[in-house]
Amino acid sequence: MASDSNLAVVLDRIAAIKPALQKQAKISDRDNCFPTESLELIKKEGLLNLIIPTSFGGFGLSFLEYQHSIAQLSQACAATAASLNMHCIVLGALADVFSPRLNDDQKKFVWPYAEKIFNKVTQENKVFASATSEPATGARYSKTKTTYHSVAGGYVINGTKSFVTMAGYADFYSVIARKKDAEEGMDSYSLTFFIVPSDAPGVRVVEDWDTLGMRGTQSHQVVFNDVFIPEESAFLGITGFALMKIIQAPHWVTGGYLGVYLGIMEASLNFAINYIKERTDKDNKTGLGYDAMIQANIAKLYQLYQHAYNAVFDAANRVIKDPHKKETHQALYLAKYVVGENAVQLAVLAMKTCGGAAIHKKHDLERYFRDSMCAPLMPVVSNACEAFIGKSLIGLPTDTIW
Ligand SMILES: Cc1cc2nc3c(=O)[nH]c(=O)nc-3n(C[C@H](O)[C@H](O)[C@H](O)COP(=O)(O)OP(=O)(O)OC[C@H]3O[C@@H](n4cnc5c(N)ncnc54)[C@H](O)[C@@H]3O)c2cc1C
Repeated sequence: MASDSNLAVVLDRIAAIKPALQKQAKISDRDNCFPTESLELIKKEGLLNLIIPTSFGGFGLSFLEYQHSIAQLSQACAATAASLNMHCIVLGALADVFSPRLNDDQKKFVWPYAEKIFNKVTQENKVFASATSEPATGARYSKTKTTYHSVAGGYVINGTKSFVTMAGYADFYSVIARKKDAEEGMDSYSLTFFIVPSDAPGVRVVEDWDTLGMRGTQSHQVVFNDVFIPEESAFLGITGFALMKIIQAPHWVTGGYLGVYLGIMEASLNFAINYIKERTDKDNKTGLGYDAMIQANIAKLYQLYQHAYNAVFDAANRVIKDPHKKETHQALYLAKYVVGENAVQLAVLAMKTCGGAAIHKKHDLERYFRDSMCAPLMPVVSNACEAFIGKSLIGLPTDTIW
């Protein structure tokens, strides 16, 4: 757990760059381009190090503190927050290894690997992206088609990844791949995460990102064609535990971007409140704010946001106490479900409440509306969250959602 002052420093730094990020958010959405300037500010403020343990020179934020921070950032620019989140998802799995639950022998095993990866961030400002989804199978990792096979001194990777946020900007891709010729399915030992340099020969970005929302994330396809990577590129230096990691501690994959979409929800709520305030004349007791239906809508918007907020922070609290517990996983999938569904409902209701003027592109609500539509699409999708919770409560195996 980071000290309170670390969280305070992070929040101060985010507050300082928010105006610049807000400006860039409009441009990257309009021009369908990556918010490079915003990511450069993130680097300058040391915010790539949010969750790197303090012993490695990072801020060492807990999962809960992380959600607070990323939500703040997302209010200014959701694409920047989503990008930083992908970087943190990759590092999160490694940072977790240094939780107090591990004994010293276990820590010693991963220390040299972790140090190498964390140094790339703290000393060289390198950015990591998550290349796991695939065109035909989305985020169902048990169906991963990208393969790896061993060769002298390393591995060769072949396959295509879709929706890779920061494609073309990130320095490294965290790629999940199946051992060549291993059967598709839940055999976790056949799947491995590899850290692949984005400039490795055979890595190619296919610029296909032109979407309704989250346009600035530039989540293009990335093709890996006979890409050679050295032996130490396997995550933690070992092969075959990727799926196990996702199933046992799903908080980063399932819950990393909870704060991203919570931030957009808060921004939409604030927009609606301010918009209605501006169209309310307290002196003459007239205007939209005096309409009982508008008042009820504002209360409903607040309720949608607050319900999601409570679900996220309940889940995050449980994660920092015990990320492996069944109840923690139920709370995480519930939070993902509530954020996904409420973000869409809130966006629609905010539009209706503010009325016709709100569909103008000059208003940020128009962008928040489109960005919010991505919330339920992020893994784990809403129906899979329901399936997980139902199965878990009944006592059936839950890993089949992957
Ligand atoms: C803005 C944005 C950024 C993203 N960034 C990244 C990134 O950086 N890296 C990355 O790897 N991926 C990323 N993703 C991709 C994301 O992780 C999903 O894999 C992707 O949205 C899946 O799209 P799909 O077309 O394959 O649809 P699917 O998710 O496969 O959905 C198709 C249908 O199947 C249903 N479905 C899907 N899974 C299940 C399930 N388990 N059980 C039951 N029904 C299911 C869905 O509800 C839907 O009806 C991003 C997505 C978005 C929207």
